[in-house]
Amino acid sequence: MRPEPIAIAFANTRSSPRRDRIETLTLWRAWIDAWPSLGTAGRAVDVDGLAALRRDRDDVQLLLHSIAGGQQPRPEPTERLLDAARSTRTLELRWPGGHPVLAVPDDVTAATVIAQHLIHAALDLVLTGPPLAACQGRNCRKLFVATRPDRRWCDSAICGNRARVRAHDRRTAHAADSTGAAGPAQRGGGPTPSVDPAGDEAPPQARPAGGGNRRDPGRHTG
Ligand SMILES: [Zn+2]
Repeated sequence: MRPEPIAIAFANTRSSPRRDRIETLTLWRAWIDAWPSLGTAGRAVDVDGLAALRRDRDDVQLLLHSIAGGQQPRPEPTERLLDAARSTRTLELRWPGGHPVLAVPDDVTAATVIAQHLIHAALDLVLTGPPLAACQGRNCRKLFVATRPDRRWCDSAICGNRARVRAHDRRTAHAADSTGAAGPAQRGGGPTPSVDPAGDEAPPQARPAGGGNRRDPGRHTG
């Protein structure tokens, strides 16, 4: 499974309203290390720089969600991103061992260098990238490339499974109401509940039936 483009991965670091996967410098460094060519600059980001990057991330996520939903984005966050993209870009590459590495010139901060790269990546995705979709999982904020029209979840094993659990519980509760039998506590053979709504950074592997970009909460797989 190919990883999502970096602009999507950046947006997805806010995987749910209460979960920020780059909340601390330790988390940030673990995240940026997935892109070795960005690691030198990324690891030089300080606390203030990370705070700015997290604001940029929120703006990028709003923009990409608008695109995924086929809606015009809110002006303020988009304008902030465009302002950052319009500022003079510093771009320096080094080639230690023949591999490209994003370098940080003396007169700018590491966070600025990284932010410019990520914001330009997001704008490039908006202008020339593949179609995007938003996960339909409850409270999930993740996006993905809409590789299939029937894909609904960032990760079928997480958000898809949670939806199946809820659907199973609803059916069980309904049956209990009808017959007077016990409710969801006697659930057996149904989907396995997952721990965290958007709690897995694992590559998406959606397989459920369902409706791609369509809102179709009544459908599920079991
Ligand atoms: Zn999801």
